[in-house]
Amino acid sequence: MSYKKRSLDPRQMTSRFASTCYTCKKPIKKGEEIIYWPNGNHAEHLACGEADYRHSLASFEDEDNYSRQY
Ligand SMILES: [Zn+2]
Repeated sequence: MSYKKRSLDPRQMTSRFASTCYTCKKPIKKGEEIIYWPNGNHAEHLACGEADYRHSLASFEDEDNYSRQY
């Protein structure tokens, strides 16, 4: 594992503790699937954050495509 890698990338993970969803403000239970955003240090339900998460991943892929194309 390299610390040079983007440490602020959002990641899907299992919540290790109960918290509150950043998006819908409802409780996140321990063990639920969440999207964690180190950049803003907040978490949200997988369902609440999935669209943004996928968009974020897609933009990373776009960067790779650009570097291959040009
Ligand atoms: Zn939510």
